[in-house]
Amino acid sequence: MLMPSAKPLGELENPAEFIARHIGIDEADEAHMLSVVGSASRRALIDGIVPRSIARSSAMAIPTPVTEAAALKQLKAMAAKNQVLKSFIGQGYYGTLTPGVILRNILENPAWYTAYTPYQAEISQGRMEALINFQTMVCDLTGMPVANASMLDEATAAAEAMTLAKRSVKSKSHVFLVAGDCHPQTIEVIQTRAKPLGITVKLSTAATTLPMLMAEGDYFGVLAQYPATTGSIHDLRPLAGQAHVDGAALCVAADLLALTLLTPPGEWDADIVLGNTQRFGMPMGNGGPHAAYLACRDEFKRSLPGRLVGVSVDTHGQPTYRLALQTREQHIRREKATSNICTAQVLPAVIASMYAVYHGPQGLKRIAERVAAYTAIFVQGLKTLGYQITNTGAFDSVTVKTGDATNLIADRARLAGANLRFRLKNHLGVSLDETTSRKDIELLWSFFAQPGQTMPVVSAFEKGIESLIPADLRRSSDFMTHPVFNTHHSETGMLRYIRMLSDKDLALDRSMIPLGSCTMKLNATSEMIPITWPEFANIHPFAPHEQLQGYAELDKQLRDWLCQATGYAGISLQPNAGSQGEYAGLLVIKAWMEANGQGHRNICLIPSSAHGTNPASAQMAGLTVVVTACDAQGNVDMADLKAKCEQHSDRLACVMITYPSTHGVFETQVKELCALVHSHGGRVYVDGANMNALVGVAAPGEFGGDVSHLNLHKTFCIPHGGGGPGVGPVCVVADLVPFLPGHATAGLPVNGVGAISAAPLGNAAVLPISWMYCRMMGPEGLQQATEVAILSANYISARLKDHYPTLYASANGHVAHECILDLRPLKETSGVTAEDVAKRLMDYGFHAPTLSFPVPGTLMVEPTESETLAELERFIHAMIAIREEIRLVEKGTWPQDNNPLKHAPHTAASLLGADWDRPYSRETGAFPLATLKQVKYWPPVGRVDNVYGDRNLFCSCVPVSDYAT
Ligand SMILES: *Cc1c(COP(=O)(O)O)cnc(C)c1O
Repeated sequence: MLMPSAKPLGELENPAEFIARHIGIDEADEAHMLSVVGSASRRALIDGIVPRSIARSSAMAIPTPVTEAAALKQLKAMAAKNQVLKSFIGQGYYGTLTPGVILRNILENPAWYTAYTPYQAEISQGRMEALINFQTMVCDLTGMPVANASMLDEATAAAEAMTLAKRSVKSKSHVFLVAGDCHPQTIEVIQTRAKPLGITVKLSTAATTLPMLMAEGDYFGVLAQYPATTGSIHDLRPLAGQAHVDGAALCVAADLLALTLLTPPGEWDADIVLGNTQRFGMPMGNGGPHAAYLACRDEFKRSLPGRLVGVSVDTHGQPTYRLALQTREQHIRREKATSNICTAQVLPAVIASMYAVYHGPQGLKRIAERVAAYTAIFVQGLKTLGYQITNTGAFDSVTVKTGDATNLIADRARLAGANLRFRLKNHLGVSLDETTSRKDIELLWSFFAQPGQTMPVVSAFEKGIESLIPADLRRSSDFMTHPVFNTHHSETGMLRYIRMLSDKDLALDRSMIPLGSCTMKLNATSEMIPITWPEFANIHPFAPHEQLQGYAELDKQLRDWLCQATGYAGISLQPNAGSQGEYAGLLVIKAWMEANGQGHRNICLIPSSAHGTNPASAQMAGLTVVVTACDAQGNVDMADLKAKCEQHSDRLACVMITYPSTHGVFETQVKELCALVHSHGGRVYVDGANMNALVGVAAPGEFGGDVSHLNLHKTFCIPHGGGGPGVGPVCVVADLVPFLPGHATAGLPVNGVGAISAAPLGNAAVLPISWMYCRMMGPEGLQQATEVAILSANYISARLKDHYPTLYASANGHVAHECILDLRPLKETSGVTAEDVAKRLMDYGFHAPTLSFPVPGTLMVEPTESETLAELERFIHAMIAIREEIRLVEKGTWPQDNNPLKHAPHTAASLLGADWDRPYSRETGAFPLATLKQVKYWPPVGRVDNVYGDRNLFCSCVPVSDYAT
């Protein structure tokens, strides 16, 4: 009898188990796929694709992988090094209570967080309704007619307000006036943004002294905060009239919760209103992510930056949401774009809007009145303790004169587990919020009381108290009167409203989203779990550094690993989207040039195939964009690049390339390209959005890049969130490290570039996602992910080659991690466009690949490593079946203007109506593949009429959804 032989434990333990969970392709699949693409091994395939000249010299020095449970445990230990104190700091970040129904069903729900930006309107109606609720909420609270669907943070929103004012007003001045009692981080970011644009920022001591600067008459815009960072509520009404007389715009940074009680800026003729929505249910998260907002007067709406959801109609005449106007404007207007914002803060905007839907106008007002009442009581008590506050009026924040006792009181508070605002000379700031209780007020008094002093006795706790809001600035107008804000106040109702909206949408939890350049890969649940841990979520970004040790360690480790992945020497995680990383990186180059006596260099060469954010960022950085050509193979035209380098040699600042290219090809001459630019004294910016084809295989910092940004929301697994949040780290070679963005407001040194985000660590609270990914994958897992991503793209290209040719490939016929399918010839033979195919894919249950970028009339497919072979095959079958349908049009079986492609997507209502006079069956419309009969996603609306929507811009009012009526 054979005894079962004991296996060595090493075979039973599997610290790398996550790798096979993240990567959808197993060994058998891989062997099959390799045979289809004609490679003997994965190694051979990669060697044949990645140019030898750029292959990594060494493996990444990243710790070997650990299991999901072990990684969570390690991260928990790191999180425990953050000290969670009760925050009374304010300064733009407040405690908030995320309603459980929103926390679980949106923030923790992949149906919401794995969705893509709603470019394909028909399969994005749910999140666009949530976003139009957001826009409506902002319009109603600010009193403005138009608001966009989110900004990156309050400080960058203020900077965008400045440039929006600059392009919209009559004044030709280059001076922007800013009240000194705006949040310091807002002022800092405005200063960073103003400099390269040649805008002079003039600061007044406070909003009250702005009229003195305005009297000089030389300004195009003015910014004040309402309430001010000190807590004071200034009467800003006279500023609007004066600004308009001077041909300038009044921008107001306003707190939305305060606006439930304050006369909104729109009622006193402000031109632009901006702010944050963090306290509407998003935890402070050490500074982000949160949705900021930007609203403007009607005349400015066509140059409003960011995305704007509007209402149009579908082919059946039904009201339908879609992204309006400037949505893709960087791709169209390039260096003339109004802003570089691409990824914004959709998920946090959805959460803020749902917070407003759930609480309704009465609920919001009750919260605000409670906060205002506690503030008044707190002040009353402070006065009996002998303190003076320096405010004129108050909503939730006060500045207390503490003189010599300042440090003592702040320390006492800290010992008791509370942070006061301490970076004010001889004063302490105290801000209250939704989470404040009576106990907190008593606790606060105890910090200020002298030993032995009797504590205030306040009858107001029972009786109520008049708030400190100035009588003539109290709001009298209604807001949020639309039914959507007055219906879903029970948890059952709210749960179903959220579910109803998510059911309308197609996210990664239903099918692959093969979007080229966007890298929609697995966002693993264990990566997502830590983001709501209180040790990460309930942290104020301007808390004392010693309380943020867990975040400091997270920052350090992640930067070390990303340096390994990219070959760069230094990284800043401050930029909160790829576009912001681009902008920061270009500023770093400029700062280095200036420090080296080359400040006159201002030309930025950008190939015509570049992503639209590249030229838009270059313009914002004050660089002059010169476009260089691409050759017939889609590669950078080296001859043209050489000629332009020579032509602009003494003024060349940099070139911005994407690698592998946006055409999905590893260009073999990239090293020569970098050397050429360097020989002319320029620096090389490598757009890192395509790092999913490089990690572990080649490193831009090694092959000649000087600066890159990464998109952690692409390559490093932060979910797309329906259009944000993102993280766009800026990575640089050694000599540029000293110039990386600093953050004076947070007490971090500024040597080269000042703050580019409101918070020093940008969207800090989502960094655990990328940390978990790297920790569980380890160096070999990360490299394998890259290689499988490349294999999968080549597999799709090979499987579809007889149906849709791949437009660009390297000499041996291979692509990188994505492939561009050329559909342009079909237009000629069948009248079918790439857009028709994109819409028809919805009937098959898929989100379309990237449509018409970078080449019009094409689809760019990026499968990523996370999809299984079965899912790749499902997509391939759909694409082939659609090609067969096109053949029937080519043959004349179906007319060119009356076929399932032109009528796609098919709604249930359109198929089940009484009349049916089309040349194809209802079944062909709905179930082109038999498998769809079991699981079917029904697009809720038919094809959207974009032209109608742009002509009849209608963005700030919610048509009642079917459900709400
Ligand atoms: C996504 C992308 C960007 C912009 O990144 P955001 O995070 O959306 O701002 C820039 N370049 C390329 C090639 C991209 O794919």
